[in-house]
Amino acid sequence: MNQKITVAKGDGIGPEIMDATLKIIVAAGAKIDIEEIEVGEKVYLAGNTAGIAKESWDVIRRNKIFLKAPITTPQGGGYKSLNVTTRKFLGLYANVRPCNSLHPFVATKHPEMDIVIVRENEEDLYAGIEHQQTDEVVQCLKLISRPGCEKIVRYAFEYTKQYGRKKVTCFTKDNIMKQTDGLFHQVFDEIAKEYPGIENEHWIIDIGAAKMADTPEAFDVIVMPNLYGDVLSDVAAQIAGSVGLAGSANIGTQCAMFEAIHGSAPRRAGQNLANPSGLLQGAVMMLNHIGQTDVAEKVQNAWLKTIEDGIHTYDVYKEGTSVKKVGTKEFAEAVIANLGKQPTTLKPVNFANGSALTLKPYIRKAPAKKELVGVDLFVHWNGTNPNELADKVKAIATENVHLSMITNRGIKVWPEGFEETFCTDHWRCRFKPLEGANISKADIITLLSKAQSLEIDVIKTENLYNFDGKAGYSLGQGQ
Ligand code: NAD
Repeated sequence: MNQKITVAKGDGIGPEIMDATLKIIVAAGAKIDIEEIEVGEKVYLAGNTAGIAKESWDVIRRNKIFLKAPITTPQGGGYKSLNVTTRKFLGLYANVRPCNSLHPFVATKHPEMDIVIVRENEEDLYAGIEHQQTDEVVQCLKLISRPGCEKIVRYAFEYTKQYGRKKVTCFTKDNIMKQTDGLFHQVFDEIAKEYPGIENEHWIIDIGAAKMADTPEAFDVIVMPNLYGDVLSDVAAQIAGSVGLAGSANIGTQCAMFEAIHGSAPRRAGQNLANPSGLLQGAVMMLNHIGQTDVAEKVQNAWLKTIEDGIHTYDVYKEGTSVKKVGTKEFAEAVIANLGKQPTTLKPVNFANGSALTLKPYIRKAPAKKELVGVDLFVHWNGTNPNELADKVKAIATENVHLSMITNRGIKVWPEGFEETFCTDHWRCRFKPLEGANISKADIITLLSKAQSLEIDVIKTENLYNFDGKAGYSLGQGQ
């Protein structure tokens, strides 16, 4: 039975590379029925700031599988990124981007590179929860959830198992962000134990990224939170040879979207110049995902053979290495002519074990014992001497709760701060219970009410909890 898929031809070079891609996969025997929708520039300019009409969402949700060409986001404010919206609305939690070199046919400094970046796609700083709190300070909330971590880490290990890879590496910055990145790392360690046959390791992101850019062959599958993955997946694609050659999959529990990683290259549009390889790589991942692994394998090996034959579009064409410079259509025809053939220098792929991954559903753990142990009051204050602020704020203490610390941008400035520490107008005043006392929500209300009467400008509060006796908050730097 044919699989119904939603196709959007996008803008710029989109229609040309989509036609080429569909022609190749259909010639290879893909059993698909196509339902086309319009997204992108025309829809944006017609006044829809999301770049997609409601009826198109219905089509995407009904068919579940979405192959999308790049779109042009019009210049000027107010237009929302269709990619970000699609990922979040459809719960596409995993962004998967294979980056491998095609040495010696496409120039790269890393001939042995063959890595897959698995990026968390829904949370982290991309929750987009931002606030200005004082004249001088804005904040962005970094949200990391246990289900978010479990889903992405499990996906990385299942992917590794299914595609016969050997190792999963986790990148975080948990030496600094002990709660958020700490949770990601902790979940990685927990889930790694369920896969004894797969090697696992953790790197701090800074040195890990440096190592990846310098010696990518040291890595196999790398899993990481959203922001790091966003940056490093582009680095990885670029050092593999060209961002124009990479595709990506966005996978959710119900729906999935497949695309090229590059944009709509408007200056190249309509000239039969563009390289369809990135979108074709997305389509190969799609074919694997829908279980048509034999077709995916046939397409991928024909594509590798075409690259190896030196049949190249202008973007990868290089005098001496390439044999023939071709346009989009001719490249597609060359791939079609190679269907059934295998590359001889490049390693042919074997997707025998491919297809959609089925993951264990997330099971919520029994709730921990949650105990209120303090509160941080964030205060907007234009003074510069923390001792003065401490004297002011101490006055709001209750019979149970006292001021224990003030920090400015995380650094302890009271008690015993350094006068060298630079301070902005954003102060965190930590209140803890006195020895032998407890703190309740009523104490917090009292603190706030006293602050109000003393005209202390509290801009937000953050409760401090212990979970099963373990502190669920960070100490002040220098505390
Ligand atoms: P781009 O990826 O479109 O182009 C960057 C460079 O790479 C250009 O020189 C272009 O000619 C070249 N290039 C890209 N793809 C190519 C291909 N397949 N074959 C040959 N050459 C190719 O990035 P940009 O110029 O920054 O963005 C152009 C438009 O694309 C913008 O409107 C941007 O918002 C949009 N965009 C869309 C997506 C998406 O839909 N997923 C992603 C990135 C950018």
